[in-house]
Amino acid sequence: MSQYDVDLFVIGGGSGGVRAARIAAGHGARVMLAEEYRVGGTCVIRGCVPKKLLVYASRFPDAFEDAAGFGWQVGESRFDWPSLIAAKDKEIARLEGLYVANLDRSGVEIVRSRAMLEGPNAVRIAADGRVVTARHILIATGASTVREPAVPGIEHAITSNEAFDLKRQPARILVVGGGYIAVEFAGIFAGLGSKVTLAHRGEHILRGFDDDIRGGLQDAYRHRGIDLRLKATLTRIDRTPSGLQVTFSDGDMQVYDEVMIATGRRPNIDGLGLEKAGVVVEGGAIRVDAASQTSAPSIHAVGDVTNRANLTPVAIREGHAFADSVFGGKDWTASHALIPTAVFSTPEIGSLGFTEAAARETGKDVSIFMSAFRPMMATLSGRNERTIMKLVVEKQTDLVIGVHILGDHAGEIIQMAGVALTLCATKADFDRTMAVHPTAAEELVTMRAPVR
Ligand code: FAD
Ligand code: NDP
Repeated sequence: MSQYDVDLFVIGGGSGGVRAARIAAGHGARVMLAEEYRVGGTCVIRGCVPKKLLVYASRFPDAFEDAAGFGWQVGESRFDWPSLIAAKDKEIARLEGLYVANLDRSGVEIVRSRAMLEGPNAVRIAADGRVVTARHILIATGASTVREPAVPGIEHAITSNEAFDLKRQPARILVVGGGYIAVEFAGIFAGLGSKVTLAHRGEHILRGFDDDIRGGLQDAYRHRGIDLRLKATLTRIDRTPSGLQVTFSDGDMQVYDEVMIATGRRPNIDGLGLEKAGVVVEGGAIRVDAASQTSAPSIHAVGDVTNRANLTPVAIREGHAFADSVFGGKDWTASHALIPTAVFSTPEIGSLGFTEAAARETGKDVSIFMSAFRPMMATLSGRNERTIMKLVVEKQTDLVIGVHILGDHAGEIIQMAGVALTLCATKADFDRTMAVHPTAAEELVTMRAPVR
């Protein structure tokens, strides 16, 4: 008989926690998992999945509009927000059920409660006060929305959590922030017909992305009627009979139906009892080593709570590596070296590796290959939007060290570029790859001369 109630206790049933629990159970571990809200976590319940469904919905008006150039006469179209939200909710509930069923099938015991550490090998279940002892503990509690800047009236604002469940579509919405969530939701609401203002404190949206792509998306958003207010901050929000009145730092006042704050997320570490177990926090996140082990040897942490790369596939990979290494006798770590990513704006962004600016800042001697073109579909639709494809190539080695795309299906294309760069493809490898014609992606293998 083991001296512990279970081999592994997982706190948090999101992307990282669920993967780790299922893999550990598959290796024969007795696993218990606590989830305080809904199984599936942020990604499934109020992140990637519902967001992508809303993105799909927001793109239909483009299709209706473009159809005319191809001989179609599309009748009057009308959008109904409650129908979309109800369909989305149904799909999310279905997915949640699948997650629960898969955990059950793997033999993982699910505890529907908040849980916190009582020591390096003990977890307290908040619902009934029970203390469960565990040989290993995994913290996979994710991150939460913040409402910042903390200006007067910020309590009137919503975050992405509430945006998914609004009873009514806002006719006028202010989205605050310039990161993934702000940019994606600005695109969603604009596509669905809301009048959107995107206010960002910086000079350009999407810090960390390639400058040509950021500029291209800004142009496209403006062209699509999004009021982009850069170097803009709010000073207060007041509820008035005509809506939420926002005062900007330059004194301008505007009224909106909703104000959505998307200024980042914070790791869920409050009240977790970290100090009782000797788990060290650094910069507001749980400190871990490459194997996701915390300062307490029996406790690991994965996903957003560690604030490494806050993306679902990364949390899943970290959880999988932990479970294989600790319970499966297969030692490996999740690599954070090369992470393809997409921003589901319209037009979409796909990005991988070094941006041009980052490459130059780190002293690399690079050639830049870039193509900005009207996609074939636009020739008949008349849509005036350009696709941008960009390669960053290290001169000395000929290695392709960055790929950046703005345009249709950029997320799909960048996934495959990820395979090429993981295999250390050179520009010569791209050049000898046969093109697929006629596609947009063929540009990536047909760019001959560097632009700089
Ligand atoms: P989570 O999935 O957040 O899971 C943590 C779970 O722990 C939650 O269910 C929470 O309720 C639970 N919990 C917290 N504390 C406790 C406790 N004390 N006891 C019990 N349970 C607890 N990533 C992408 O890769 N692609 C995307 O397109 C994408 N879109 C996103 C869109 C939005 C709007 C948001 C908010 C995020 C998006 N992300 C996306 C990020 C992605 O959702 C996260 O990186 C991912 O969910 C992190 O997984 P995790 O396991 O660390 O945490
Ligand atoms: P991000 O970190 O991406 O962006 C936060 C934005 O808010 C930045 O533009 C930042 O500006 C701004 N900001 C931060 N603090 C303030 C402040 N006090 N006042 C005004 N502006 C502020 O966070 P998100 O919330 O957008 O997303 C969280 C994470 O979730 C992402 O980083 C990503 O990892 C993940 N995600 C992934 C998606 C995907 O894969 N498609 C989609 C959605 C989320 P500045 O740049 O100046 O710091």
